[in-house]
Amino acid sequence: RALLRDFLWSLLFALPVVLLVSAGGGLFLARRAFRPVEKIVRSAEQITLHNLSGRLPVPHTGDELERLSLALNQMITRLDGAFQNNRRFLADASHELRTPLTVLRGELEAVMQQADGEPELQDRIGSVLEEVERLAKIVEGLFALSRLDAGEAQAEWKPFDLARLVATTADQMNLLAEDKGVTIICESSGEVNVQGDKGRMKQVIVNLLDNAIKYTPSGGRVKIRTSACEKTASLEIADTGVGIPATALPRVFERFFRVDKARSRAEGGAGIGLSIVKSIAAAHGGQVEVASEEGRGTQFRMQIPLMETSDENKGKPYAG
Ligand code: ADP
Repeated sequence: RALLRDFLWSLLFALPVVLLVSAGGGLFLARRAFRPVEKIVRSAEQITLHNLSGRLPVPHTGDELERLSLALNQMITRLDGAFQNNRRFLADASHELRTPLTVLRGELEAVMQQADGEPELQDRIGSVLEEVERLAKIVEGLFALSRLDAGEAQAEWKPFDLARLVATTADQMNLLAEDKGVTIICESSGEVNVQGDKGRMKQVIVNLLDNAIKYTPSGGRVKIRTSACEKTASLEIADTGVGIPATALPRVFERFFRVDKARSRAEGGAGIGLSIVKSIAAAHGGQVEVASEEGRGTQFRMQIPLMETSDENKGKPYAG
């Protein structure tokens, strides 16, 4: 009986210790076994449409995990190839379409001059010319998007004052606004120094301002404001126009999305202006957001990083 009691005591003490050690050992082994999986998950989370050149780490364990990561990497390589083909196709197609469209426009203008004195014929040529202009605008937009998608640094990357660019662009577009009876108000709190592609940034301002004027009825106002806060430069364009329905708001930056197809088409829009704005903002390391209330107005806000004073003169390519 004494022997049995001793045995019971030793069991009572030893059993929890054995259980603890085995649980700890199990946990340690499981963690070690899953470490490569964690690495793969972390890398996979970082691979996006814009960075398909990244690959998953391959653990050289000789087991299913190694085969799985190899297979996933091969899949990413195939996807990367397919996306690059798509981008190249878009770039080539839009590039090839530009020349014939320019020729077509020139020829139509010449025919229009020859048809002097035949108003009916001139009307018909005029409407064909309008369609050709619209087509040319879409092709230009697609060409710009394809270059942005490819992450190409088309023009030099240099420092400039965003507030000044906004003021001069708004000045140039004032005539368009006056024609529509819309007032442009430009507000600025001083210099907003950023670094980037000035030409493309001007396109952002033109596209946003053009939309604001287009979708604001006569008597309305368009307010443009630039500001610099900590490390961020902001550009805000707010109008008192027709607004965008809440259901359409999440989709306005999609390519070829138009809220009211008939109205937008009549205004010459194809639904790619805002997607260009979004791509340019992303290429500058920033983003655009929109807020709107139907019947009251729309506000667009673009935020990009302010220029870092230390690398003021350093050239920087597009982030893609
Ligand atoms: P579009 O060239 O057709 O104007 P965009 O990509 O510039 O294309 O805009 C997409 C859609 O978003 C437009 O069809 C329009 O309905 C809506 N939209 C854009 N800006 C405004 C605005 N300031 N006010 C109201 N609607 C707007």
